[in-house]
Amino acid sequence: MFNVMTDKEAAHKDYYYTLGVGPDATSEDIHDAYERLYHKFGPHVTLSGQDPEMMLKTFKEITEAYEILINPEKRKQFDNTGSMHSSRSDLRKLWAQSSGPKQAGAASKGELKIARDTTVIIPISLKEAIKGTRKEVTLKDSVVCEDCSGLKPLVRMQCPNCHGIGFTRADRKEEIDLPPGMYHGVEVRIPESGTLDTQSGKHGDLVIKIELIPHPQFKIVDNNLTCTIPVTLFEAMLGADIEVPTGTGKVVMKIQPLSQNGRVYRLRGLGLAGADQLVTIEIRIPEKLTAEEKSLVQRLANSSKMANPRKDIL
Ligand SMILES: [Zn+2]
Repeated sequence: MFNVMTDKEAAHKDYYYTLGVGPDATSEDIHDAYERLYHKFGPHVTLSGQDPEMMLKTFKEITEAYEILINPEKRKQFDNTGSMHSSRSDLRKLWAQSSGPKQAGAASKGELKIARDTTVIIPISLKEAIKGTRKEVTLKDSVVCEDCSGLKPLVRMQCPNCHGIGFTRADRKEEIDLPPGMYHGVEVRIPESGTLDTQSGKHGDLVIKIELIPHPQFKIVDNNLTCTIPVTLFEAMLGADIEVPTGTGKVVMKIQPLSQNGRVYRLRGLGLAGADQLVTIEIRIPEKLTAEEKSLVQRLANSSKMANPRKDIL
């Protein structure tokens, strides 16, 4: 025989309530209740539209209640210290006054429970990091089942809406504005926009972690973008305006006359989060010379006043 109770406020830990039995339940009653709940919520059960994690949590609560109440010694201890079930209990009245009706799983007063954060990793391109972007994320959220909120598991079992879990799944879309200046590893915290924490009954923060998608042309060193750009021998000697790629498109960069191989040009503010882009030039000499070119270069060499570059090391 089950002493079915419809008390909506007993959301604190009450093992009798969890199993749906009265305080005078026999071991057999307790065993029967557990068996019924096991068939409904056991680890072998899958219910469509239900989060397996949440089902497991429900089953753990049931198992914990069973293990305490089926053990005479533990049950006695719980009756003496933990039970809020007796209507004679002054403590119970106190509960009703101080905390009011609770949602399923809500924290007891005085027991500070903090909702867990929800962390979402968002990969973004270099261009998005520099210019800013807007991203949509879909959160696998839960909502308290309105149909059976506050009822105990045995009654909830009959709920066609949530199959007795007490929560239903509800995917939620969030638009996230990422301002310019993002970089790899940065975290954006949006208070109370995370998924519902069924333990505390509150929404935790939504934490967005930025993951920068690697770029084929750039390396990132301390938020500076670095790259190597080839220039011809003539551009390096005579100077030139050349096009170079940046994180957000091409720009024209001035090569100074007589630039040595490996010279680094700094493009201010074109890196991540206000850092710079560093362009290293790599001088390429021709792979082939025509007869005419060869004779011109020979004339240049003969007339050059360039000092022996090895004089200091010999
Ligand atoms: Zn329900």
